[in-house]
Amino acid sequence: METREMIRVENLNKSFGDLHVLKNINLSVYESDVVCLVGASGSGKSTLLRCLNFLERKDNGKIILNGQEVLPQTHDINEVRQHVGMVFQHFNLFPHMTVLENIIEAPVHVKKISKEEATKDAMELLQKVGLEDKADVYPSKLSGGQKQRVAIARALAMKPDIMLFDEPTSALDPELVGEVLQTMKELAVDGMTMIVVTHEMGFAREVADWMVFMDGGVIIEKGHPDEFFSNPKEERTREFLSSTG
Ligand code: ADP
Ligand code: MG
Repeated sequence: METREMIRVENLNKSFGDLHVLKNINLSVYESDVVCLVGASGSGKSTLLRCLNFLERKDNGKIILNGQEVLPQTHDINEVRQHVGMVFQHFNLFPHMTVLENIIEAPVHVKKISKEEATKDAMELLQKVGLEDKADVYPSKLSGGQKQRVAIARALAMKPDIMLFDEPTSALDPELVGEVLQTMKELAVDGMTMIVVTHEMGFAREVADWMVFMDGGVIIEKGHPDEFFSNPKEERTREFLSSTG
């Protein structure tokens, strides 16, 4: 069986003024793969995810989604963005909307799905993330872990082809990290294609199909977790791994 290439990045560059943040990035992500992206703060991980979701505009290079190069001139970026879900460190839920309203907002207003159908989908997603009893609650009444699980459900409601996670557990109290990682693990088992920026090396080791290490805007090393953690090829990867304990 042929595996579908969901994302291909070719020679991607991005600068902020004089600061060259992404340097000739090349990366392929295949269907159902979980890629964990690691690296020190400032290495360009968030900028890469933001380019993939078109929250940042690349300077040059190619982004090919599902076999089709995304050209800002000819593609509706909002349409493309529906295929790429993103979960941030800070949950960014709408505070004035209930959990259910948060989840159905984009399907109803962007995708023009009926409220009834969107609600049915949302309730299934809430069940999946273990929060079906919180549908009518406002985000302020939820723990950080629950908010993040709602944020995941909200991204999934658009039925994306790929999910990007940018340090989804970094803002959480330690005792709440596990429930969010568990939700992500279940998504991975269900076959979702995912790129996860994380400092949770235990999660990465267990769930990743591929590890990618970035340093100074460059992909230094890509490997299977077994190899990557026990026998990294590059000195800089070794240094990074020993610094994470
Ligand atoms: P990481 O997520 O790996 O910590 P980032 O992608 O956030 O790294 O940042 C990479 C570099 O780009 C950093 O030096 C950061 O200060 C810089 N940077 C990120 N976003 C912007 C921006 N909008 N304007 C200017 N510099 C930025
Ligand atoms: Mg970041």
